Amino acid sequence: MHLEKLDQFGNLEMSYISDFSGGYISKNEHILKYLDLTPLNQFILEKSVYGTPIFKVGGGGKKIMIVSGIHGNELPPQIANLYMINELLNKDLNNAVYLIPFAAPKSSMDNERTLNSLDLNRAAHIKNSVSNLIMQAIEELGVTAVGDFHSTSFNSNPGCESVFSSKSPTPESFLMANYISRDVGSEMLSFDFAGSMYKGALEDVCNLNGIPSITCEVLSPFGSVGKGTVETSFRQMKSFLSYFGI
Ligand SMILES: [Zn+2]
Repeated sequence: MHLEKLDQFGNLEMSYISDFSGGYISKNEHILKYLDLTPLNQFILEKSVYGTPIFKVGGGGKKIMIVSGIHGNELPPQIANLYMINELLNKDLNNAVYLIPFAAPKSSMDNERTLNSLDLNRAAHIKNSVSNLIMQAIEELGVTAVGDFHSTSFNSNPGCESVFSSKSPTPESFLMANYISRDVGSEMLSFDFAGSMYKGALEDVCNLNGIPSITCEVLSPFGSVGKGTVETSFRQMKSFLSYFGI
């Protein structure tokens, strides 16, 4: 995977995870309402029409990845991820941060959990699904750790602001989650072994492959943005980066 330098946006680089998952994010009014249509945000929305874009800022040191939009109808983390790209742009970073704000722009456009009926957080082990392609990129780029950011509706699973991790086979996952939980106040939800509850979550497939990974959840209705939830998701992302001294 080769990320191209985008000279008009300073230190930002981009590439594509896939070319079959694109969509018009701006058709989702709930997302659009939260975005200033700056040249950078417009650029990201335009690129999302053609697939799943991946962005990079910084370089050297560790390689940390922030993913959101694995479930297209979980909106706060997707907006927070875009804020994070804006926040990190042109900062002097000693590490590389990879950001995938819209894992499946088509699902985000349609405000849907699935992409072509596939739940991408049950499909990271299925060859060439979008979440599997993200996994392939993680391995190819040599990513050090992965944070996957979601939202959960009251009365759904887990139904609370939380951080998922597992202790085995990649114990650092648990340490990362513990740090974020103490820092932000999100509840710890930890499993003894990755993937024991169900198969194909990006977090679990990472951990099973030895790449420390956590899933963060904020509490917001599916398909819309609960008050303050973009900020909470952003705080979880910031905390995840600060674990690595970023
Ligand atoms: Zn989700």
